[in-house]
Amino acid sequence: MIDPHLNENDLLLRNTIRDFVDRELVPNASKYDLNQEFPGDAIEKIAGMGLFRLGLDENFGGVTGSNIHLAIVTEEIARGCASTAVIFASHMSLCSKYIELFGDHKQKAIYLPKLVEARALGALALTEPDAGSDVAAIKTLATEVDGGFIINGSKHFITNAKEAGIIIVVASSDPSLGSSGLETFILEAPCDGLTITPQKGKLGIRGSSTCELNFNNVFVSNDKRIGKAGKGFHMTMQVLDAGRILIAAQSVGIAQMALEVSLQYSKQRKAFGNSISEYQTIQNKLADMATEIQAARLLTYRSAALLDCNQPFETEASMAKLFASKVAVESANQAVQIHGGSGYFAPNIAERLYRDAKVTEIYEGTSEIQRMLIARSLLSQ
Ligand SMILES: Cc1cc2nc3c(=O)[nH]c(=O)nc-3n(C[C@H](O)[C@H](O)[C@H](O)COP(=O)(O)OP(=O)(O)OC[C@H]3O[C@@H](n4cnc5c(N)ncnc54)[C@H](O)[C@@H]3O)c2cc1C
Repeated sequence: MIDPHLNENDLLLRNTIRDFVDRELVPNASKYDLNQEFPGDAIEKIAGMGLFRLGLDENFGGVTGSNIHLAIVTEEIARGCASTAVIFASHMSLCSKYIELFGDHKQKAIYLPKLVEARALGALALTEPDAGSDVAAIKTLATEVDGGFIINGSKHFITNAKEAGIIIVVASSDPSLGSSGLETFILEAPCDGLTITPQKGKLGIRGSSTCELNFNNVFVSNDKRIGKAGKGFHMTMQVLDAGRILIAAQSVGIAQMALEVSLQYSKQRKAFGNSISEYQTIQNKLADMATEIQAARLLTYRSAALLDCNQPFETEASMAKLFASKVAVESANQAVQIHGGSGYFAPNIAERLYRDAKVTEIYEGTSEIQRMLIARSLLSQ
């Protein structure tokens, strides 16, 4: 299908990833979910296709690629496996991008090649038991010592941490300063004093690891601090602003698969002598899903395009994430409804999508926080 928003290269990329996803992810996604298994083979192949290089500085192993490309890739991966999509998005937007945007030349030269060549998976450790939406409340302490900092404290809900070789850690050098006291460090894992414990009982995206981190006198040398003293909050917010575009793309991918399985099932399922797709109530659900998914995709592309043109994109990224995550949750809900009782049982894809979708309204800024950011921008004009 022709898409006026995508050029030939974009379409080629989308079709290549879609083929890969249909071949490698769609058949395995249920297994990753049910076994809570890290999709190691898939991640290796994704990296092997050069996708860990996409949009990163060519001087450090990156290849040309726009934010629209990253959104296309994330959407397509999420269509097949939402777990794999969050592993990819966290690695790219929260770790590699952090170092590319704010690291010094030496940090980029050491860490970006490892990340783009998939010699290390990346993670960002920001959230703490008492500091989620309220990032300025971070308590993990970075105490300055001779030659560096000693980190003590804990983080939770950290994606990729179990497998990560490089973890960006945000800690406070002085909690009384709030957001102005935050510092960012590059930590190579494993390391002395760092304990990483996977968290059990997750509703969805069960193929990705989500971990608790405990820091017990972890030493980081001065050359591992990213950016200037006290700039951790500012840098992290910029990284999250762009990261939201990929969570919006992940949401679109989940919603797209919800529509596809719903179309397929509704044509084949018979009730009262007809395919259920012949009933207008079911058709209305399909029509609403398709319309909302397209709107969510366009908002996602728009925010990515604004970022690509170096225009203010933050509010659009919040809008894209807010809307697309709602569409993912609602589309997955309708997919279960259309599947009836069979949609309520694993390994039905609708059942998995229903569980996978919810987190898109929570991580990288909850929907309430997105609304707050959008309203703040509206009111400041
Ligand atoms: C599966 C998963 C993976 C994650 N991966 C990572 C990761 O890789 N790295 C990382 O650092 N973090 C990660 N997170 C953490 C995630 O970003 C936080 O859970 C999220 O930011 C919300 O923080 P919280 O859970 O502490 O909720 P809280 O901030 O305590 O919020 C609780 C509720 O209060 C609402 N609320 C809070 N403040 C306000 C306000 N001012 N106005 C209105 N409502 C408000 C929230 O919207 C929410 O509904 C992950 C979380 C999950 C579930």
